[in-house]
Amino acid sequence: MLKRELIIKKRFLDKYNNAKSELIFKNHYELIVCVMLSAQCLDSRVNLITPSLFANYPDINSLANANLMNIKELIKSCNFYQNKAINLIKMAKSVVENHNSIIPMNFNDLTKLAGVGEKTANVVLCEGIGANVMAVDTHIFRVSKRLKISNAKTPNDCAKELTKLFKTDLDKLHKGIVLFGRYICKAKKPDCNNCFLNDLCDEFKQQKNS
Ligand code: SF4
Repeated sequence: MLKRELIIKKRFLDKYNNAKSELIFKNHYELIVCVMLSAQCLDSRVNLITPSLFANYPDINSLANANLMNIKELIKSCNFYQNKAINLIKMAKSVVENHNSIIPMNFNDLTKLAGVGEKTANVVLCEGIGANVMAVDTHIFRVSKRLKISNAKTPNDCAKELTKLFKTDLDKLHKGIVLFGRYICKAKKPDCNNCFLNDLCDEFKQQKNS
């Protein structure tokens, strides 16, 4: 790893040492449901939806036997709620039938579940068991480009590049970079003057020189 990338990694780890997901969940069942709902949807929106969803369906068995229309009604303020409702029930049925009602905390089994792609699986592993995996969402994708630590064209390729680059502490870096992208290196009007990486950022240097 180049010195610059080492410094970036260290600063993220120092700044976001105890970073946590903003999704609210109590166990692996609630975690996978939250992460599935959060695709193309704000965490804050998911946190508004899940209390009543989990009150009605407190575990994987109840979700596996859920009424589809009822799930749709409970999550209808979430983007793509129709497909998400179908996938939530399919995912739950599969966990009950094939995994003894326990969410499988490994990549291969997770990605076989309905509605669980590579990114969702890696977020579940990162948040659920602190696995050394990188999941790239819209924030990490943008930050990586701005800091020139990845030129990948897709989030999945970006995840592979960041994994190769940083190698360790990937779960902490994931959580930290998400928060950094959400509150500092925002899509619109990034807070460059108060950014702890601005001395390493070409975008900031260009802004100052323009
Ligand atoms: S200086 Fe600005 S653009 Fe560069 S990483 Fe920081 S917030 Fe993002």
